Amino acid sequence: MRHWTIPRQLWQQSLEEVGAFGREGREGICLWLARQDSGSNLAFVRSAVLRGPLIRRGPLSIQIDSMLIDRFTDVVDREGLLLAGQIHGHPERFTDLSDVDRAMGFRVPKFLSVVAPYYGTHANTAFRDCGFHEFVAGSDYRRLPEHELALRVTLSETPVAAPLSV
Ligand SMILES: [Zn+2]
Repeated sequence: MRHWTIPRQLWQQSLEEVGAFGREGREGICLWLARQDSGSNLAFVRSAVLRGPLIRRGPLSIQIDSMLIDRFTDVVDREGLLLAGQIHGHPERFTDLSDVDRAMGFRVPKFLSVVAPYYGTHANTAFRDCGFHEFVAGSDYRRLPEHELALRVTLSETPVAAPLSV
């Protein structure tokens, strides 16, 4: 089973990004990148944020234009990185994936999709407060039960650069 490492600094950057839009009552999103040569155990090394009019953040959905996704993919590829996870905010305590998330989400094997409660506005949000969902190849997203979350997702003190902005 895959194991993920999330630097504390990257987690904090993510909550800042998601919470900034959450305070306006909208879903924010932060993308997580790993090195392209990562093995089955995956360490996120950089976060990325999307800017401009090609991303629209609503109270219950986020729409990203395919042109922005293409541009993002080019930038990430040039950096030798790979999109392998994301975190976005939901209102209140709802940390499951919505039907829209399941339908529109990144359907990449082993992709990690995290949902933060209260739109990510609580800076002290911990892993256990969130919903962690892995994409299972040929299937669908599956939420990690609490005992699995503790075993498979680890916080690290590895420093990370400022978020990549696309
Ligand atoms: Zn969602």
